[in-house]
Amino acid sequence: MFSIKVVRSWTRSFHVAVVGSGPAGFYSAKYLLDKHKELHVSIIEGLPVPFGLVRFGVAPDHPEVKSVSSQFAELFVQHSTRLRYFGNISVGGKTKNSEDSLQVSIPQLQNAFDAVVLAHGASSDNALKIPGEDLGGVLSARAFVNWYNGHPDFHDLGQTLNLSQVTDVVVVGQGNVAIDCARILTMNIKELEATDISSEALDVLRGSAVQRVTVIGRRGHVQAAFTIKELRELIHLAGVRVVIDQKELDAGLTASSAEEVKANRPRKRLVDLIHSACSANDTTTATSSTSTTSDSSEISSHSPAEKELSLRFLLSPVALESHGDSQRVSRVVVERTALSGEPFHQRVSGTGQMESLPAQLVLKSIGYRGEPIDSVPFNTSTHTIPHDKGRVLSGSDTTASPIKGLYVTGWAKRGPTGIVGTNIVDAKETVSSVLEDLSSGLLQDKGVDPEQVLPELVKDKRVVSWLDYQQIDETEVSDGARCIPSRPRQKLLTRQAMLAAIQRPQV
Ligand code: NAP
Repeated sequence: MFSIKVVRSWTRSFHVAVVGSGPAGFYSAKYLLDKHKELHVSIIEGLPVPFGLVRFGVAPDHPEVKSVSSQFAELFVQHSTRLRYFGNISVGGKTKNSEDSLQVSIPQLQNAFDAVVLAHGASSDNALKIPGEDLGGVLSARAFVNWYNGHPDFHDLGQTLNLSQVTDVVVVGQGNVAIDCARILTMNIKELEATDISSEALDVLRGSAVQRVTVIGRRGHVQAAFTIKELRELIHLAGVRVVIDQKELDAGLTASSAEEVKANRPRKRLVDLIHSACSANDTTTATSSTSTTSDSSEISSHSPAEKELSLRFLLSPVALESHGDSQRVSRVVVERTALSGEPFHQRVSGTGQMESLPAQLVLKSIGYRGEPIDSVPFNTSTHTIPHDKGRVLSGSDTTASPIKGLYVTGWAKRGPTGIVGTNIVDAKETVSSVLEDLSSGLLQDKGVDPEQVLPELVKDKRVVSWLDYQQIDETEVSDGARCIPSRPRQKLLTRQAMLAAIQRPQV
């Protein structure tokens, strides 16, 4: 797939704009620069600061995942003359606070650059479409994650969260985002203090009254979307009792589920760990005759539990309700579901059996969703940009053809799935298409420098260069070092604070 070894030389540089500086954008920049020694890349980012989901999505207690940002930053050293960063530019009408950032359209970028690679991710989330979704205290997990990671557009959320009044939280959905949220809500504050979590989130979490977090999945434990590493972390949280109901595991272990476990070794390990966690906490009197082998060695003894974290299965939310006239959520009504069908194609249906779960905070963690951007085709069924090997297509039907010079990668291309590393394969495919089109002559050199066509890139004072970002970075790192206990960085939480950290020479 990534077979281009030698790329024709040009008399001048080709300029590629990469829209978005998350892992999809940075991996695209990396492979473009690595594979073509004359090509120039400009990364265009909506926020002043780079790294997208690595900074604002990855949980603060996962520094080993965040460390990939050092590799991305290193690209500016390796390719100092060919890689540029233009932060605080809203492309295609995508960013809030428009007066604080430069607005640029996709056609403007297409005029200024020889190729444009879209790597802007997925900026919205799926809706449950059940009554009560608009009540106070009902949030998307995406908003909650952005808030605790210090995203400037979610800065105000802490004021409405009111965690000092929240004892019970329900998280809907059982992907890794749901597990991240449950862990942040229950983990020891001392551990969080040593991370780069937003200082405001830290304050709100210090005053939290949360006692119980219930994470519900509409399917069974065999179909849970979280991965074993994330489950292990939950099980080993100090001061947290993980509760799993054996009866729910038994109900989920249909003949088809057993086949699914048998056919997939990683899944078997995950299911074994769920069973071990269930047994370790002795939450049920029932003994399953069908349970898979438990690896009880995975479960160590717990410190006295201060909080409870329940993983519940085969429950689908049907309504979010409040007490009386209150406009804040107080409970989640769930319906017991049952699985049926062939292995890997099992469906859930409601059984009519209802249960009410208390909750003053509900986090909807049922997947992110891509949003259209101006002047770019969009598939409203998949919420992605139609493409062929990363070449953006004019539409989603069979007659669609590639739009010259426009490419896509990451979540905007494949939907909101996969881990940071998934973007490597994805970016390689898109970069191969760009380089093939350059090599075949399909892409013509426009013969201009982007800054001549779009002088705002360097002239607009709101635009943040890589040197500017390094000042923001230094401020955050030194502020973090001064904290007690010291922190890897103390994030600046608003656009204004980020821009204020930049000292430009007077001209
Ligand atoms: P996800 O993995 O797709 O999980 C979504 C969850 O929501 C599933 O449990 C799904 O259940 C459920 N769901 C969807 N629609 C629902 C509905 N209408 N009612 C009830 N439940 C519903 O999404 P995610 O957790 O947002 O994660 C996105 C991607 O980022 C994933 O690839 C994830 O692995 C990755 N990520 C990784 C990490 C990490 O590696 N630590 C951390 C965060 C995110 P069904 O399965 O039944 O549809």
